Amino acid sequence: AKVFIYVHPFEGMPTEENFRLIEEDLPPLKDGEFLAEAVYLSVDPYMRAYAPRLKVGETMIGSQVAKVIESKSIQFPIGSYVVGVFGWRTHTVVPENLPVSQFTPPPVLISYDGSVPLSYYLGVLGMPGATAYFGFLDICKPKPGETVVVSGAAGAVGSHVGQIAKIKGCKVIGIAGSDQKCQWLKTIGFDFVINYKKDNVEQALRAAAPNGVDCYFDNVGGEITTTVINQMNRFGRVSCCGAIASYNDNTPAKVTTFLLPVILQELEFKGFVIYTWRNKWNEAVKRNQEWMTEGKLQYQETITEGFENMPKALIQLMQGKNVGKAIVKV
Ligand code: NDP
Repeated sequence: AKVFIYVHPFEGMPTEENFRLIEEDLPPLKDGEFLAEAVYLSVDPYMRAYAPRLKVGETMIGSQVAKVIESKSIQFPIGSYVVGVFGWRTHTVVPENLPVSQFTPPPVLISYDGSVPLSYYLGVLGMPGATAYFGFLDICKPKPGETVVVSGAAGAVGSHVGQIAKIKGCKVIGIAGSDQKCQWLKTIGFDFVINYKKDNVEQALRAAAPNGVDCYFDNVGGEITTTVINQMNRFGRVSCCGAIASYNDNTPAKVTTFLLPVILQELEFKGFVIYTWRNKWNEAVKRNQEWMTEGKLQYQETITEGFENMPKALIQLMQGKNVGKAIVKV
């Protein structure tokens, strides 16, 4: 197996030096185990945020779609496809009862009929899709006619949230980091877009949402979030999904200054880890699939070829080079 291990703790942006590619011999399968061969690997911001919890020398954390190529497990037969948090590895010996935690769900079989690419199970029909679905609907509880702001809007989760908000009859404002991304967001139905690298976000948001913001789906944290919070309406809801603006800081983020509007506008804030909805996952997959079939949900991927390019793909994600879901094809 080819495996990327975490060798140098991150300082700021990830670099190729944080990882080392090694070859590993795999042991023969024991009863209840299967051998998974990676087909696509997911590239996600949490990798940067979570990796400091890893010990130097451990396999980098990550999920993949893999094909079962050998098996001593009845549950995972040869030829089936599985999504699992196996790390940055080409081949993995997996026990069918892999220990699970808050951040590592058990491997799941895909009922794959070839109608969509397998990589979709790492995106719109997988974890980011469930994040958009539950993180937005259960926490923001959007009502028709309300104004929704999404930061990190052109990414896997953000682009999906914006489209669900449109399906629910809301006005949607997306904040993203390039004109190209903003143009794409308009083509998939966002009503207003703000390029936070170029525009004055405060003014642009005031113009786009003259009556204030009711729901904020936050993928980024930091200054953008402070700006949005200051323009929220009474009883507004904030889904705290991600804080990518501070993932590359080695010092914990300072408390920002939006507490007064939180109190005066009686805002509701809720953070979440998507695996908490693990037992309801299928509801999101089914709904997202239906919306795609009905043409209400557009989906885009940025695919990097080659397992050895995993570090590069993560660096590019942190630099904002991806549009939609970032994937590596092994
Ligand atoms: P994306 O596809 O959105 O990729 C990350 C994007 O973040 C980049 O393309 C870049 O776009 C943007 N970005 C990078 N740095 C900054 C910055 N300093 N300020 C603002 N934007 C920045 O990733 P995902 O859709 O997979 O994830 C989105 C967020 O959701 C992340 O914060 C992630 O950690 C979180 N998440 C949380 C989950 C949960 O359970 N709570 C589950 C899944 C994801 P741009 O060009 O616009 O800057």
